[in-house]
Amino acid sequence: PKEKPHINIVFIGHVDHGKSTTVGRLLFDTGNVPETVIKKFEEMGEKGKSFKFAWVMDRLKEERERGITIDVAHSKFETPHRYITIIDAPGHRDFVKNMITGASQADAAVLVVAATDGVMPQTKEHAFLARTLGINYIIVSINKMDAVNYDEKKFKEVAEQVKKLLMMLGYKDFPIIPTSAWVGDNVVHRSDKMPWYKGPTLFEALDQIPEPPKPTDKPLRIPIQDVYSIKGVGTVPVGRVETGILRVGDIVIFEPASTIFHKPIQGEVKSIEMHHEPLQEAYPGDNIGFNVRGVGKDDIKRGDVAGHTTNPPTVVRPKDTFKAQIIVLNHPTAITVGYTPVLHAHTTQVAVKFEQLLAKLDPRTGNIVEENPQFIKTGDSAIVLLRPTKAMVIEPVKEIPQMGRFAIRDMGQTVAAGMVISIQRGEE
Ligand code: GDP
Repeated sequence: PKEKPHINIVFIGHVDHGKSTTVGRLLFDTGNVPETVIKKFEEMGEKGKSFKFAWVMDRLKEERERGITIDVAHSKFETPHRYITIIDAPGHRDFVKNMITGASQADAAVLVVAATDGVMPQTKEHAFLARTLGINYIIVSINKMDAVNYDEKKFKEVAEQVKKLLMMLGYKDFPIIPTSAWVGDNVVHRSDKMPWYKGPTLFEALDQIPEPPKPTDKPLRIPIQDVYSIKGVGTVPVGRVETGILRVGDIVIFEPASTIFHKPIQGEVKSIEMHHEPLQEAYPGDNIGFNVRGVGKDDIKRGDVAGHTTNPPTVVRPKDTFKAQIIVLNHPTAITVGYTPVLHAHTTQVAVKFEQLLAKLDPRTGNIVEENPQFIKTGDSAIVLLRPTKAMVIEPVKEIPQMGRFAIRDMGQTVAAGMVISIQRGEE
């Protein structure tokens, strides 16, 4: 039998609409809250009951802060057809950066909207962010149904608001589920209080998340995470295959190393290894080490990208610029021309200069609201021209989405998230 697909999900939505409570409820009702945590709140008796899910989540958060990886140990569960990993939620410090550069690209998002409030500013922001980050599938939970007497009319009203927002962003075929995370209605167990609802529970909807396509038909791209020197083998770069297929015998080239050294850093792939086993070929998602004839340890480093010589990684140099669409998430004042923060994409980090602010966009529709703005600030979406301070690999998102998204960071915070629209070659 075929192995169940692994799906990474994130929870998004306005503050206090019930993201943590929903996660707590999901883990609890699927039996994935650790025994020790359950015992503790049972000891708290009735008092514990009234805030148990928030309390569970706080315990889990604490454990995470102490370095116990709840990501691995506690935030996974199975549905009949999927392995689900809850990877994060925006608001957590490094959410955007992790989404873009980590191993934690989300396949789907659960958008939580409280029936009591409807669509709020952060509902829109997060939905737009999900779009920018390339999350292609959304499940909507209209939560706190208990607080509106499980009223069908109220549900339909809020569902209509959410539908409008998501369709504007280009999403289609998203389930909209009335839930009460607090009571446990339609999260894992089907509610008997909303007989008018015939659709899936949240758990059932998670079980039906479409399997993410493997981008094997795209050009080969392997961002390098580390380079080792192994006795008897030689230089072994390691990284995750993002797109394409790598086979033993292929000729691969490393960029921007080749650009920086003014000579091709390339060679034949002699061996590939995953989990200490030799492989003949590696596919997207595979974390591999591989050995390339003639490529030494000092020729390449983290941030380089391997691709076939027949379709090498795209390099932007300081004399080039690239056009990008960004959403400003968190900047203390305003971004103006000349601002030079650090861009994080795949495994690389390069300072980039804001060369031009081309247009400010309506974050919901993508329509231009202002040409050549003087500045952009938190909450704004914009088209900008960026210039890297040194050569780096990045790809237009239309060609290789996995390699075209980036986070912009400054002073320990994620300032913006973005995607590359096009590359402009500068004069030689
Ligand atoms: P988050 O900020 O989106 O993670 O929201 P929380 O999960 O922390 O919930 C915010 C508040 O709403 C808490 O006081 C919860 O107890 C409450 N809450 C969450 N889900 C429900 C629900 O289904 N019904 C009701 N009545 N309250 C809820």
